[in-house]
Amino acid sequence: MQITAQRCSQCQRLFINPKYICNDCGGTVFEEVNIPGRGRIYSYTVIHVPTEEFRDQVPYTIAIVELDYNQSIYRIVARILPGGENKLKVGSDVTFTGIDERAYCFVITPRVNK
Ligand SMILES: [Zn+2]
Repeated sequence: MQITAQRCSQCQRLFINPKYICNDCGGTVFEEVNIPGRGRIYSYTVIHVPTEEFRDQVPYTIAIVELDYNQSIYRIVARILPGGENKLKVGSDVTFTGIDERAYCFVITPRVNK
């Protein structure tokens, strides 16, 4: 699955999270760009003590995921499903599965045995 990003029509800067105004040039016109939903874990934490809203979801995992696109690296905050520490490592490959409750969700990319 691809991630829909926004590119500033004026300066071409790419944003993963939606913007109304470009941080670089102040432009307000954006075009949608689909980028591959594959990345790797840059850092993560497992939440055991949630806010009230997420009480029924513990433990859950929040990560910073790095995405490579056009020779640049983009980092986004994401949920890693399922929660908990199973098989998680910094550097693990992850695959985008969709947006849930405004969070980008990823799963560990299954290893293909050849
Ligand atoms: Zn711009």
